[in-house]
Amino acid sequence: MNDAPEKKKKKTIKDIAPEKTAIPEQDPKKRCTNFDEVALGYTEEMALKEAERCLDCKKPKCIDGCPVLIDIPGFIREVAKKNYRRAFEILKKDNALPAVCGRVCPQEAQCEKTCITAKKLDPVGIGRLERFVADWAIKQGWEDAPEITPNGKKVAIVGSGPAGLACAGDLVRAGCEVTIYEALHMPGGVLKYGIPEFRLPNEVIDIEIDALKKLGVKIECDKIIGRIFTIPQMMEEKGFDAVFVGTGAGAPRFANIPGENLNGLFSANEYLTRVNLMSGYRFPDHDTPVGMGSRVAVIGAGNTAMDACRVSLRMGAEKVWCVYRRTIKESPARVEELHHAMEEGVEFHWLTAPVALHGDENGWVKSMECMKMELGEPDDSGRRRPVPIGGSNFMFEADTVVYALGTNANPIIAGTTPGLKVNKWGYIEVDENQMTSVPGLFAGGDIVTGAATVILAMGAGRQAAKGILGYLEAK
Ligand code: FAD
Ligand code: SF4
Repeated sequence: MNDAPEKKKKKTIKDIAPEKTAIPEQDPKKRCTNFDEVALGYTEEMALKEAERCLDCKKPKCIDGCPVLIDIPGFIREVAKKNYRRAFEILKKDNALPAVCGRVCPQEAQCEKTCITAKKLDPVGIGRLERFVADWAIKQGWEDAPEITPNGKKVAIVGSGPAGLACAGDLVRAGCEVTIYEALHMPGGVLKYGIPEFRLPNEVIDIEIDALKKLGVKIECDKIIGRIFTIPQMMEEKGFDAVFVGTGAGAPRFANIPGENLNGLFSANEYLTRVNLMSGYRFPDHDTPVGMGSRVAVIGAGNTAMDACRVSLRMGAEKVWCVYRRTIKESPARVEELHHAMEEGVEFHWLTAPVALHGDENGWVKSMECMKMELGEPDDSGRRRPVPIGGSNFMFEADTVVYALGTNANPIIAGTTPGLKVNKWGYIEVDENQMTSVPGLFAGGDIVTGAATVILAMGAGRQAAKGILGYLEAK
């Protein structure tokens, strides 16, 4: 008889369930009447089932797809062993905000796209597992309480979005005295004012921000840098040894068509801020009406557009049209967001572009004139250019129009910081350490790359923290 321990057979693609474990969701008919979270998260049983689908590959492709190179098989292995604390530690090592990223990262274009199982089956539900672990940690009240040795250096962060928060987290752990200055009355950046509660509850962001405060990060809201004081003043008069700029790309873009001065036209950021940050969705309990009508046309088909459409439904709009000049194939929104918007009743008009807004006698939008488009030759971005079809004009009887056409850099920092180099679109230029042309001034996130993603902004914030520590040491 052979007493040698039996070698565990390596799992292959044939051994696993072909489909991702489904995530429970609120029913579409019910959820479009409330702001509660749509995706409810895995139970422990579901998470264990999904973790079993990971092949724990020798050469895991998923890591290459993750912008911050999380040890994905490592954390999933710990989930499968029910060692959630260790799984959380692995996630936290590379991702400062796993509960946020588990909810909003475009995994289908990142780690799940490159996951080996995706060649033949559904990819492993990496995002759903990440969210499960992060939510489990929140429920258990796990916090990292590192020993911090003060290094006597003072660093200021301008902007409290994911880039600023991630940068602040790494710097405070390294012993710096960190102060975040935020223009709005609440910290969180787009996570708070842009992404609605039903995708990312504010409570989740607040827990992450409170954890930073407990580590010693000071946050000063209602402070517009460039207006109350400038960056040169911060470095020369306020005693900061370095400054990080993570001001995002929040300036709206317009289509430059007739009628854009009418009432009832919003930029998506203004619209979403009124609802999310100013509690417009709690009117009349909160005295902040949004001022929208009941027939809403949203222009664009990215995540911001999907948020504006779905918020409109929840605000009681009778009709919500999503109008986009290309096709669903070119739409930049996450697949899940498009799917949810369709389920909830948003009506999509592909290959359609607005050409004019028409108003009533009181100066309010009463209709939007559009033209049908067809796809022509590829443009500089490699996508086929939309070309108007002559004589195809038609009207939407819309009383509210929301522009979600992308955003631009806000010029306030560049305009008040002599010597700061920006590119032709106004985005700040940085070197490989995220340092700008001004020594000691660093930048990262959307203000450097243009509108991107939460994980990329966070990654840039952490890269800048490394750069700042190197700069301070050399200084
Ligand atoms: P921001 O999050 O924009 O934060 C910048 C902060 O700086 C803001 O709080 C701003 O008030 C503050 N600020 C600006 N100027 C000053 C100043 N002069 N002084 C002081 N403070 C200032 N990405 C995803 O990965 N998944 C998604 O599902 C997703 N959905 C999105 C939905 C919407 C509606 C929007 C608008 C974006 C979405 N994104 C999504 C993109 C993502 O949120 C951004 O790429 C990311 O937030 C950028 O982070 P940031 O820290 O660079 O800037
Ligand atoms: Fe698991 Fe997919 Fe990564 Fe392989 S590529 S380790 S299956 S998540």
